[in-house]
Amino acid sequence: MSFDSKTHVNRVTVIGGGISGLLTGLALQREGKKVTVLERGEIGNVVRSYPVEGDSGTYIVDTGPHILTRLISGPLRSLMDRYFTCEPTFVPHGDYSLRMNGARGRFPWALKDFLTFDTVPPRERITLIRCIVDGILLPDKSLSVEQFTNRYDLSPSTGRLVAALCHFLAGVSPQEVPISRFWDSQKYKDGDGNMVKKALSLLGQNTRQDQFYPVGGIQSLTDCVLKSFTGTVIREESTHIDVGQHVVSTEEHEYPYDLVVYSGMVKDLPRITDVPPEYRATVSQLETTTAFAVWVGTPDTVIERAGSEIWVDTDPPCWVVPTSLYDPGLSPEGHQLLGFAFPYEDNIEKKALQAVEEMIPDISIDMIHTQVLQPDKAAWTTVPFPPITTPIPDLYVVGTDTVKKSMGITRASYSVVDLLNVLRGESLL
Ligand SMILES: Cc1cc2nc3c(=O)[nH]c(=O)nc-3n(C[C@H](O)[C@H](O)[C@H](O)COP(=O)(O)OP(=O)(O)OC[C@H]3O[C@@H](n4cnc5c(N)ncnc54)[C@H](O)[C@@H]3O)c2cc1C
Repeated sequence: MSFDSKTHVNRVTVIGGGISGLLTGLALQREGKKVTVLERGEIGNVVRSYPVEGDSGTYIVDTGPHILTRLISGPLRSLMDRYFTCEPTFVPHGDYSLRMNGARGRFPWALKDFLTFDTVPPRERITLIRCIVDGILLPDKSLSVEQFTNRYDLSPSTGRLVAALCHFLAGVSPQEVPISRFWDSQKYKDGDGNMVKKALSLLGQNTRQDQFYPVGGIQSLTDCVLKSFTGTVIREESTHIDVGQHVVSTEEHEYPYDLVVYSGMVKDLPRITDVPPEYRATVSQLETTTAFAVWVGTPDTVIERAGSEIWVDTDPPCWVVPTSLYDPGLSPEGHQLLGFAFPYEDNIEKKALQAVEEMIPDISIDMIHTQVLQPDKAAWTTVPFPPITTPIPDLYVVGTDTVKKSMGITRASYSVVDLLNVLRGESLL
């Protein structure tokens, strides 16, 4: 009697217990597999929160400020609906604001908002509308943001806004980001790629309604994954994958597998297993980026209503999330907790603190805490990301360097959904 060995895939080893590894482990365990997740560092990695003492009491900071996107209809929602046994309480993000040219105004999400975008002069608003409409109609979206925006007479402050958005959305400068990055959310809303429909949707889109913050901090997402998961999570580093013997080794143990999913940086995969030279060459091109975060606890009211702000006037620009406005339990009573994310550069610690003091000159600081972190595992440049499947049988990859859709936890979730689809297609689920 013969049988297809693939239908007998039972033991799954997931390398990496960041959010993509944990979501993969949970989904596969709930699909009936026996799952072991190996993590060399902290479980959840950047999807974690921890206490920091201030003069007035304890603050709970996230590992980098986080807002969850596409939560109503995106990939994390579909994973939560199908596999979670509990989920965090989510609070709506609220509006995005800009502090730019010495004023504070709402971020223009929809094309019509540019008409009233009063943090930039009226002539500049018209230029921006032209720029966006031309961008929609442009057939070649591989052009860099810099090549594209150089065609327009944008003021230095609008140029700084564009650079800040490139850093926060793609992890690199306008020279390296293809303009296709900015049409990603349009693809998500209008999957059929119809230009007219896209343009009409851009007139009235309101993406900010699909963004949330979890009560308890970003840790509560990792906690819910772990509560829903009944497989095994082990704090060990995988040092080798023997693809012939189907064994993942750590310094301490050997883990036989039928299927292995690697969720560390794909660029590093060749360090722990043999891969064909072409694959090694492709993944070596992936560019990693670094972010700098500052958490400030203050008795002052820096931001009045829930909603994050992009500060374009600071050097460098930053993104500010007032997490205690979503969950007052994250800071001592009467104090605000603000997370600032900056692109990493030389002397960033000094520049970041100067930026905060420049924008809020008399700020009283009760707590200050800094972090150097890695956001998405690969910047969104023109370099292609490797697919979920690898040239090695029974070895798959997931994480933010495998799928060019959205960013952060949403991108990690897309990769997990894509993996599940691939496994279903191969009759492994
Ligand atoms: C400042 C900042 C702000 C952010 N803001 C947002 C936001 O607003 N919204 C959002 O959605 N996302 C945001 N993110 C990004 C988001 O947190 C990450 O993109 C996401 O958590 C990445 O998950 P991952 O599992 O793909 O990768 P990782 O978290 O990098 O997980 C990979 C894990 O694999 C482990 N590993 C690697 N190799 C091995 C090995 N050989 N053996 C064992 N373990 C191994 C690593 O230790 C790591 O824990 C932000 C990140 C930062 C830094």
